[in-house]
Amino acid sequence: MKTDAPLPAFAVQQNVLENVLWELPFGFSLHNSDHLIEYANETWLNILGRSHAEVIGKNIFDFMPDNARDFTAILANIKRTKKPFYSPEYRLKRNRNGQTEEVFFNFVYHPIYDDAGEFKFFASVVLEVTDLISIKNKIKADEERLRLATESSHTATWDLNLKTGEIIHSPYLSKIFGYEKTDQVTHAILRSHIVERDRTDIVERAFDKALKTGIYQYEARIVDKEQCEKWIYTNGKIFFEEDGMPSRMVGVLQDITDRKIQEMLLQESHHQLNTAMDATKLGRFDMNFETLEKYNFSPRFMEILGYDPKTEILSSKVFEKHIHPNFRERRAEALQKAAKTGDLYYQAKVILRDGQEKWIELYGRLLQSPEGAKSYISGTIRDITEYKNYERSIKESEKKYRFLADAMPQIVWIGESDGRLTYFNQATLDYSGKNYNEFVSANGWIDIVHPDEQIENVRLWEHCVRTKEPFNFEHRFRNKNNEYRWFLSRAFPEIDENGNVRKWVGTSTDIDDMKKQEKQKNDFIKMANHELKTPVTTIKGYVQLLKKMRGQSDDKFLTNSLNTIENQVNKLTMLIGDLLDISRMESGKLPLNKKTFSLVGLVTETIEDIKASEQSHQINFELKHTSDIEVYADKDRITQVLNNLLTNAIKYSPLKKRVDVELFVERGNAVVSVEDFGIGMDECELLKIFERFYRVSGEDEETYPGFGIGLFIVKDILERHEGKIWVKSEKEKGSKFYFSLPLNKI
Ligand code: ADP
Repeated sequence: MKTDAPLPAFAVQQNVLENVLWELPFGFSLHNSDHLIEYANETWLNILGRSHAEVIGKNIFDFMPDNARDFTAILANIKRTKKPFYSPEYRLKRNRNGQTEEVFFNFVYHPIYDDAGEFKFFASVVLEVTDLISIKNKIKADEERLRLATESSHTATWDLNLKTGEIIHSPYLSKIFGYEKTDQVTHAILRSHIVERDRTDIVERAFDKALKTGIYQYEARIVDKEQCEKWIYTNGKIFFEEDGMPSRMVGVLQDITDRKIQEMLLQESHHQLNTAMDATKLGRFDMNFETLEKYNFSPRFMEILGYDPKTEILSSKVFEKHIHPNFRERRAEALQKAAKTGDLYYQAKVILRDGQEKWIELYGRLLQSPEGAKSYISGTIRDITEYKNYERSIKESEKKYRFLADAMPQIVWIGESDGRLTYFNQATLDYSGKNYNEFVSANGWIDIVHPDEQIENVRLWEHCVRTKEPFNFEHRFRNKNNEYRWFLSRAFPEIDENGNVRKWVGTSTDIDDMKKQEKQKNDFIKMANHELKTPVTTIKGYVQLLKKMRGQSDDKFLTNSLNTIENQVNKLTMLIGDLLDISRMESGKLPLNKKTFSLVGLVTETIEDIKASEQSHQINFELKHTSDIEVYADKDRITQVLNNLLTNAIKYSPLKKRVDVELFVERGNAVVSVEDFGIGMDECELLKIFERFYRVSGEDEETYPGFGIGLFIVKDILERHEGKIWVKSEKEKGSKFYFSLPLNKI
């Protein structure tokens, strides 16, 4: 130690100085220019692991042979320059107790001169720093580990000197800001990357807060060196000096862009969910399943309960208070069930603050909160008041209609789209004496249908269910006295907007009396017909006889009278024939006697026959085909068809005296048309003229006598020949009737 202050008297004494030197905590030795050791204190000896006797007078290099070359040069240099030599953390291999170990020293070599300026000694002061070095290395390793840990968790570290503004940061921080890892970026530059608004609104505020709390934390946006927008998260701590001044801030920084994007996406989907919810008018809520407290209400939730989401706040327990007392039990049961199944569902009435009652439907699902322990319900509520009212009015009207159906004497039934009959009115039960279940159980109704009609009944019903065609069937039903009566059953499908059958609505009307009367009527017609035919045939025979006998007579009156009688008798014969036909047709007994014949011949002959008795009109015939046309049919019946059309044409064109007949072939069919230029028909009339007993009603009805059965028979005859009849007509312009027959292919 060199000091300018004079040593105290006692200290200069040799032994005191020696004692002090001996016990110094660092090694001290002196060796001469031949490197022979002249003095070594205890610490120095300990460092070397030698005793005093082993060392004194020995060459210093004996104890560190590996470093002899180094040291010779160093010492020579010291001697030359006369300047001390410092060596921090000098590594030395030491041999102690037979073991070589690596040790570190801080040492100083000092040249010592005598008063005459002659070199005397090298004084060495040695401090072993092996422990210090190993601590230092450990710290370094710890730091490295921390660096690796922070980098692998994508966390950068920084250390900011608040006084100088100097920042030390890990390489990863440079990377986050878009720089090379090896760049050290200044604090000012780092700050310049923060988005302006976030710097003022977030970062600076966070710093002000940190000055009070010591904790520095924020999330903000930066635009990195590559112009890439990123989100960063910083978490740091301020260190204060004793006088309370902030001196240093240390922290970590993370790039949280990915998380933020996820968050934003989540927010977006939340937003979308809310929009969807708004559209469905569903209110949303979460509910703690233990306390039943609700939270996270959506505005719609509040609206349903009669609150204004803009100005009011809903407390977590308020929902329960609105539940109508009659529905509390139902709600409790639903909650119990939810605990087992995880699904919460109930409908209830709520009473709003103004006393108004509403129906709500609540649906929820039991979920586990992310922390695991608490379970909560995420749910929706819907205002179903309107729906409930609607349901009630439907129920009421259904009740009304059921009552009406039950009050009706007619049998009414309802079928499902698949044909199962699921409803029968009271009249059905009264008539059959059976109970309701017997009817609705699998096809139970068929039991009351007469066995003769059962198969056809089922077949036709299945056909209609398949084709959606209306059902129309006459069958006998057994009553409670085991007697059968005839019923006409009709059913119509109720079709929904997609064209599917929603329900079948059917009725069965008792037509037994009508059937009996019709049979009586037919029997009567048959009988009357027979009774009429005989005298008419006789009259006709006599008239023809008379005509033959008096054919050449000059008596004009007689001739005319005979002709008139014959005409009228012919008409009468035709009418009687029609009446007979109709009763035969109804009982399905109109016989057909088919054979092949020429239609050209038939048309020509019929026209000739008509001309003979009806001279009032001119009948033109045009054959629009190059060869003969043959058909396989009942000639008399086809004659009857043409006759009918021709007499109608004459009858319904009293002022226009022309009738055109054409015969042609079209798509494998022979077609005959009869055209008149008379009174014609409008569209409405056209639809009905082929119905039985239909006659166009009008002022002129009196003028045109008839039964209204001619065309009905004509249509039936043609259909039984696989032929067709159709008509074009215009009021006051005339009518053109067509009929077709398949050409004879044999
Ligand atoms: P009707 O015995 O009354 O003539 P039809 O069955 O032959 O019975 O004809 C039914 C109805 O069709 C007639 O009452 C008439 O109104 C109408 N009709 C038939 N043919 C013609 C025609 N050529 N011109 C106008 N109306 C016609």
